[in-house]
Amino acid sequence: MMEPSLHQAFNQARVSGEANLRKRFEQLYNAVEQSPVATAITDAQGHIEFVNQRFLAITGYGRDELLGKPPALIQSGMTPDAVYDQLWTTLHDGLAWEGELLNRRKSGELYWEAQTITPVTNTAGEVVSFVTVKEDITRRREQENELRLMAAAFDTGQAILITDPDMVICRVNQAFIDITGYQSHEVVGKTPRLFQSGRHDAAFYRRLRQALSDTGHWQGEIWNRNACGDIYPLWQSISAVYAADGQVRHFVSVFHDIAERKRMERELEVQAMHDHLTGVYNRRAFDAALARRVAGSARDKQPFTLLMFDIDHFKRVNDTYGHDQGDIVLQRLAQRIKGCLRASDVLARWGGEEFTILLHGTGHEGAWVLAERMLRSVRGQAFGGYWITISIGVAEYLPGETHEALVRRVDQALYDAKHRGRDRAVASGPVSA
Ligand code: GH3
Ligand code: MG
Ligand code: MG
Repeated sequence: MMEPSLHQAFNQARVSGEANLRKRFEQLYNAVEQSPVATAITDAQGHIEFVNQRFLAITGYGRDELLGKPPALIQSGMTPDAVYDQLWTTLHDGLAWEGELLNRRKSGELYWEAQTITPVTNTAGEVVSFVTVKEDITRRREQENELRLMAAAFDTGQAILITDPDMVICRVNQAFIDITGYQSHEVVGKTPRLFQSGRHDAAFYRRLRQALSDTGHWQGEIWNRNACGDIYPLWQSISAVYAADGQVRHFVSVFHDIAERKRMERELEVQAMHDHLTGVYNRRAFDAALARRVAGSARDKQPFTLLMFDIDHFKRVNDTYGHDQGDIVLQRLAQRIKGCLRASDVLARWGGEEFTILLHGTGHEGAWVLAERMLRSVRGQAFGGYWITISIGVAEYLPGETHEALVRRVDQALYDAKHRGRDRAVASGPVSA
């Protein structure tokens, strides 16, 4: 014969006698008492009448400390009143209330629990008690918070690419899509070889893999190819993520586009070396080039020559036509002189309206020819309507002399040219005009 259901047994027991009822009551009591779900029964006013073992385990209280007490005992005081108002309204309507509450253990520690409170009615339909079942969800909440935090970190401006231990891509973020132009589905399942630009040799990628397996980390500049085929520089950092057993579980690669930074670096470098008015090199860049050439000539014995020139009576241009017009003359003069030079010659604004030229691989004869050509060129045509002339000093480098000594000699030659009537070149040393 089949066992009667608990429900049938309960009804039978009520009719047939006390012993059976007691047995069934015990069965029910034990089921609730030992249930893994924390359970409490309160009277209609909310005083605790029963709590099971799990409830005690979660709250940390002994049974005696809870029985007869209001549930406020375990409230944290941090749940907004509106939540309790809504709770009581629901229960007074005879409905079950479900929600999440922040409560406090006996130890003082806060914890989150998900609760379902059900009003229990008698045969007359009056609420006689409430049954509360609850689950400690603190851990789940922490994990949710952690996941939200990770999700926020994953969506920063840095591109992120996550691979499995075999470097097969499992996930990329929005910044990755923005930078590379690849959609997620186009790269997931592939390896980062897809992005290789051809700019790095096999040894580069070998070193990268070696660093990853030795230290679990690599970072550096890397040139990749985007979805359109363009090659662009990135600053990339790759880290291995290990499982508890020490095996690599993932590689996480974070990178950002440094094309703009590189362009700005180049621009700053160019600016730092050039004169802003005329666009030719500045004195600092010229000094560096000259120092390099002096050092180089000790090895290669190649001749080189310095020219220094200055506009004659330039003060008159400024005084007559204004400083702005003077600036235009300076700009046009620099351009005209540049037109007389080879690409390897270094033209610089030494200061004011004084310029220097370094002629690589040129002795004073070649320099002299150039100086005469410069004089003719300046004389032959007006600069924005103004006729000017220049005076030039010429000095060939003497083996062994310092670059300061060379500059002094060319300066002296220029001074001599001024002294001898201007609009002329003067060579330092035995040859002069
Ligand atoms: P000299 O023939 O002896 O060289 O006569 P100068 O009038 O050219 O005299 P000097 O070389 O001593 O004076 C240079 C003048 O150049 C002084 C200054 O007003 C002018 N000058 C220097 N730098 C600039 C500049 O950047 N713009 C303009 N417009 N004028 C400048
Ligand atoms: Mg001058
Ligand atoms: Mg001057």
